[in-house]
Amino acid sequence: MAEAALFAFENTYARLPDRFFAKLAPTPVEAPRLLLLNEGLARDLNLDPLLLGTNEGAQILSGNRIPDGAEPLAMAYAGHQFGGWVPQLGDGRAILLGEVVDRHGMRRDIQLKGSGPTPFSRMGDGRAALGPVLREYIVSEAMAAMGIATTRSLAVVTTGEAVFRERVLPGGILTRVARSHIRVGTFQFFAARRDAEGLKLLADHVIDRHYPDARDSDNPYRALLDQIVAVQAELIASWMGIGFIHGVMNTDNMSIAGDTIDYGPCAFMDTYHPGTVYSSIDHGGRYAYGNQPGIAHWNLACLAQCLLPLIDGSEDRAMDIAQEAINAFPDRYRAAHTRNFVAKLGLEQVRDGDDDLVDGLLKAMEDGAADFTLTFRRLSDLARDGGEDGPVLDLFTDPAGFGAWAERWRARLDSEARDDKARQDAMRAINPAYIPRNHQVEAALDAAVEAGSLEPLHDLRAVLQTPFTTQPGQERYELPPKPEEEVKATFCGT
Ligand code: AMP
Ligand code: MG
Repeated sequence: MAEAALFAFENTYARLPDRFFAKLAPTPVEAPRLLLLNEGLARDLNLDPLLLGTNEGAQILSGNRIPDGAEPLAMAYAGHQFGGWVPQLGDGRAILLGEVVDRHGMRRDIQLKGSGPTPFSRMGDGRAALGPVLREYIVSEAMAAMGIATTRSLAVVTTGEAVFRERVLPGGILTRVARSHIRVGTFQFFAARRDAEGLKLLADHVIDRHYPDARDSDNPYRALLDQIVAVQAELIASWMGIGFIHGVMNTDNMSIAGDTIDYGPCAFMDTYHPGTVYSSIDHGGRYAYGNQPGIAHWNLACLAQCLLPLIDGSEDRAMDIAQEAINAFPDRYRAAHTRNFVAKLGLEQVRDGDDDLVDGLLKAMEDGAADFTLTFRRLSDLARDGGEDGPVLDLFTDPAGFGAWAERWRARLDSEARDDKARQDAMRAINPAYIPRNHQVEAALDAAVEAGSLEPLHDLRAVLQTPFTTQPGQERYELPPKPEEEVKATFCGT
């Protein structure tokens, strides 16, 4: 049988006690058809892309057929949504089929998203519209290509069924791949129930799976917290470096493994401004670009609260230890942010005063309403001897601020021995030319969903696969939206 050869499932999460999940199969759909398949990822997962591309593959990727070895389940979790506590969320429209070990020995979850109702669906239908599913595919794969820690997208199928939102839309199912789907909210689920045993089992599972070094520490649960703080500081700094705005940084959307997870109303910033918000549901701007580090810190404090009983038998001591771990976040984040932006400026080493240099550019960009991505990309041309400032100045409404800053920057460049060619190559390898710009993503989704034309989507996907390499003929994908093309709001589409 084809499916016996397809996945070699090894399911550790399913071995945890019953209260961790609800075991159930996806709800079959009418007429599954494979729309997108990520062949490179399939091979990485030791899956045969040819088999996945058959009708059999579409049956599996839609949840109509359960592959051998899968133990389908919906995970339980809780979370703070926009700061408000929700004691039970859980996978309301996703089913974990199981785990596979990839080519590099890494365990990865295979999850179907949009796979029908579960006991955690609350009022929802358990389904996903095709547009948001395609959006997650495009954006998550672009993130991966930029080297950002993220869940991945293996496939998109159309269901042949309608979903009912503000209007009738075609349904889709995403096959999502993650190092795990455990969230801050998973810990909150057990902590809120004062389920000390569940909490410990979860923490031990996470240590075994993601942070095995923590086991060797004097206090493994503190070490676990330290490591999660560290990976989140890196993750958020990496988002800031490419102008990514997650849009719904609820605690249930923060991955314990440190991947970007749950692509909803996320967006890439065009014009630089720290207050930028795209999500139509984020009225207060809680999850604005510049608020992301502070929110991550807040979410990590929620996680620390959950871990207290594991960290020390004395509540006071546990509080002190956890506080210390959490207090490390701002410095770690700042260091990662500086390292990142200093490299974006073409500098090899971080020196005193560099924070100020970075902030100076950002301030000039804010004042001059400059495009975030293009400013950094074009700086790599300027860095070279004889580079003309024109292409960068063109991005600023008020070029004076940039001019003054560029003098400081050039002086700082001169203080390093790196030759211009090496510097330009390094800058081009960290400052993408192509990001999934909202207007281009929306246009490609519209063509696919409304007009049934997949070509724009395939073009965009191809360009975004090598975001750091200038691709002749694809200049339009570098450009910010014209005023009439600008997408001001994004929707989570749930
Ligand atoms: P999100 O904001 O996408 O992270 O989702 C928050 C919660 O709502 C999660 O528990 C989801 O599983 C659930 N959810 C979102 N959309 C649906 C839907 N269409 N049907 C059922 N549950 C949903
Ligand atoms: Mg979510």
